[in-house]
Amino acid sequence: MAFQLPDLPYGFDALEPNIDARTMEIHHGKHHAGYTKKLNAAIEGTDLEGQKIEDILANVSKHSTGVRNNGGGYYNHCLFWEVMSPNGGGEPSERMNIHKAIMRDFGSFDNFKTEFSKAAATRFGSGWAWLCVDGDDKLFITSTPNQDNPLMDVADQKGTPILGLDVWEHAYYLNYQNRRPDYVSAFFNVINWDEVTKRYNAANVGASSF
Ligand code: MN
Repeated sequence: MAFQLPDLPYGFDALEPNIDARTMEIHHGKHHAGYTKKLNAAIEGTDLEGQKIEDILANVSKHSTGVRNNGGGYYNHCLFWEVMSPNGGGEPSERMNIHKAIMRDFGSFDNFKTEFSKAAATRFGSGWAWLCVDGDDKLFITSTPNQDNPLMDVADQKGTPILGLDVWEHAYYLNYQNRRPDYVSAFFNVINWDEVTKRYNAANVGASSF
């Protein structure tokens, strides 16, 4: 079964004014669709057909550049659409495990926001900023170039991504031009904390200890 482009969980204009409809339409319908199509072409007829995307990425150093770039692009955008919502933004509620984990590992929401924003702003060229869970159930922030991500065996810091921000120019240039920090700031108005805490709970075997 080939990988499928998922539908956006909301309309193209749902995240305005933070992310404009035209950017969302091109980003999903052209960029994400392109990664999906090229990933399927890259694995067709190989033993990667039928594997889970997470398993392909975990061994990506053994595969072609096409699998790395398009497999990353496929996975990263699937996550990206889900961790945003027109009903998102603000801070996670105190009852959420992700709130407790942010307090434990960053001291305050503001510290977390500052550190994440810095990772997004300072990623040179195209790439992603991530909030991840490591093997000791601890949160960490990192960034990756191009369409790499922390699931990949080639990543500097490996972990399970639970929040990701696309900082390729295609993600913001129509509305923000060179003002990446403004786009990063706007992203915080649409973060879907219900989804992030769900992913945290799924990744973190110690979540029940809160
Ligand atoms: Mn993108």
